Amino acid sequence: MSLRFQALNSLSAKNSSNEYSTKITAIFAENVFTSQTARSFLSDEAYKSLMASIKSAQKIDRSMAAQIANGLRAWAESKGVTHFTHWFQPLTGTTAEKHDSFFTLKSDGTPIEQFEGDALVQQEPDASSFPSGGIRATFEARGYTAWDPSSPAFIMDIGYGKTLCIPTIFVSYTGESLDYKAPLLKALEALNKSAVDVCNYFDKNITRVTPTLGWEQEYFVVDEGLFNARPDLVMCGRTVFGHSPAKGQQLEDHYFGSIPERVYAFMRDYENESYKLGIPLRTRHNEVAPAQFECAPIFEEVNVAVDHNTLLMDVMTRVAARHGLRVLLHEKPFAGINGSGKHNNWSMATDTGVNLLAPGKTPKTNLMFLTFFVNTIKAVHDYADLLRASIASASNDFRLGANEAPPAIISVFIGQYLTKVLQDVKERVGGKFDEQDESMLKMDIHRSIPELLMDNTDRNRTSPFAFTGNKFEFRAVGSTANCANPMTVLNTIMAATLKQFKKDVDGLIEKGEKKEIAILHTIREYIVGSEKALFEGDGYSAEWEKEAESRGLANVKTTPLALDAMVTEKSMKLFTDNNIYSHVELEARHEIELEKYIKKVQIESRLMAELATSHILPAAIKHQNTLIENLRGLKEAGLDKEALARPAATIKKLSTHINVVSQHVEEMIEARKKCNSLTDTREMALAYCSDVKEKHFDELRYHVDKLEQLVDDKEWYLPKYREILFLR
Ligand code: ADP
Ligand code: MG
Repeated sequence: MSLRFQALNSLSAKNSSNEYSTKITAIFAENVFTSQTARSFLSDEAYKSLMASIKSAQKIDRSMAAQIANGLRAWAESKGVTHFTHWFQPLTGTTAEKHDSFFTLKSDGTPIEQFEGDALVQQEPDASSFPSGGIRATFEARGYTAWDPSSPAFIMDIGYGKTLCIPTIFVSYTGESLDYKAPLLKALEALNKSAVDVCNYFDKNITRVTPTLGWEQEYFVVDEGLFNARPDLVMCGRTVFGHSPAKGQQLEDHYFGSIPERVYAFMRDYENESYKLGIPLRTRHNEVAPAQFECAPIFEEVNVAVDHNTLLMDVMTRVAARHGLRVLLHEKPFAGINGSGKHNNWSMATDTGVNLLAPGKTPKTNLMFLTFFVNTIKAVHDYADLLRASIASASNDFRLGANEAPPAIISVFIGQYLTKVLQDVKERVGGKFDEQDESMLKMDIHRSIPELLMDNTDRNRTSPFAFTGNKFEFRAVGSTANCANPMTVLNTIMAATLKQFKKDVDGLIEKGEKKEIAILHTIREYIVGSEKALFEGDGYSAEWEKEAESRGLANVKTTPLALDAMVTEKSMKLFTDNNIYSHVELEARHEIELEKYIKKVQIESRLMAELATSHILPAAIKHQNTLIENLRGLKEAGLDKEALARPAATIKKLSTHINVVSQHVEEMIEARKKCNSLTDTREMALAYCSDVKEKHFDELRYHVDKLEQLVDDKEWYLPKYREILFLR
């Protein structure tokens, strides 16, 4: 029996349902070294030093580190932990860990348990297998992980054993960052500096600005048996073949439907594990596509939010296995139905408790809101190409511009009310600050905006970057992505824009302008300068593509081209000026992203060829033989030409598809050989995109999917869409 039928047969036996009666507050963060836990496990001195380091990114000295390590071990051991690991986010896109035990032998052979300060602060994982874009080859072979005190340590206790995980950055010995976290921390600091400077125009008490992130994670859940019977899901995370089912998402009956039992049990289970890890999950619901779901936490400081998202993806994957399920995090696991995104809701909060993207209550705070609002629009306008690059990946290419996914054109939606406010500012600010300006500042936008924006009629779900009342939502981020990358770019471009804003305003003030007028004038100039990025209409429409082109907005549809933006002169200047990346780091990252792209397309192409040859064609040929046998029988029975025409036509159809499939397989293999002979990484990526993917993937798939419809169902090896999507 084929794997497909084995999986189908064993489906009905599976039904797990666990009971979770615990109050969330009773378990929340129980596996996290929170400041409260730290308080009871650390000396006053060590506790203070840890808190100071969290607040202002201060370095912790050696003796303190030793004390903190001791406290961490005492806490971990009280929870049955035997091992620890530095937990980091290499550029592969997953998380990495290397476990060490607390257990060691003293010089005289006495066994003891210890966790030294040095082991907490710094570790040297065998880094040679992580992507470095040539950095380590050029500079120094080793890399090390270094403790990030701003993200709390936690205990992972899913699977075998419990492990104390220390969030770390990963850098080369010469200081180049080799991970997602190191540049993110720099970007957050850059934003803090620029934003505080601008905030001080309005409020001298503000000394710290913290960017905030609330991500929404979309995913599919499928049965493990059916998953295992689809080598494409196993190897690529997406189906490379599969005819769309008779019923897809057209009835839209999944969105508001109740969550299926087995999936519900899985959700409760992974939510429980997430709570223990301090991930503040808040919402869960079905998504539009069958078998698609979403979860979202309460927003947090960006660094912690990013860690929590990567942790969640790991937790979901592990917990799904307990339920005989598989989570698909890929941006487009199934053709023809919605893909999955990871909307990044982003804002900035001051240490005085103000959300800088929430409209204010007084003229002064309204002006502060307008300042940050308009600076964001300008940042997105000026650096749209970098934002596009920050979300580019082989898998997201299948989603952007497809069903229910924002287009590859980066535009900003702000809603009609704020559009009008910007128009007013633009038109009214004349040469002098007059009563009209005064009255405009007094506008009571704080009451109407939230209402207007919370109202769904003014929500634009087709925009890649939308203002949603008190935050911007970057919707083009893909579901597999590490949010750190888009967050690094967004916070850096915002830092740079605010820095320029401060210069521009100060310039006017030096010329003798009053502060408010200088600010209003600069805002006005920024509105005029970035207007073309504002778009309120349907982002999925063909008209928008045309209009965007006439506005001069870029529409880069493929990853290899989108990545070019990383290494332009403008990008080099931006990232070096703000101390986020050096030239070497940018070049290396560009190289790594291109390599990732090449590998992904290469693997998919190989797999398509293999599946076509070993799964699709044998079934099709077998069926063809049966039909030929049948035709021969009909002939022998003496049927006339007319009666034989239809069976003969079916055979012909079948054989046409069979021929086209094998022809594509052959040509695609040849195309790959040519690509592989190229020495320049960018050229190779471009060639893989056009000569392998674009030339063959869709065509090959079309004919395979036709065969799926023609071949006897019981001879078909791969689980069909209707089975994967609807059975669980
Ligand atoms: P939606 O209708 O898009 O689901 P929600 O109001 O539910 O919008 O929020 C979605 C996400 O935005 C949640 O994770 C939420 O915590 C987050 N969010 C809300 N306010 C902020 C903020 N100031 N900064 C960052 N994220 C925020
Ligand atoms: Mg949302």
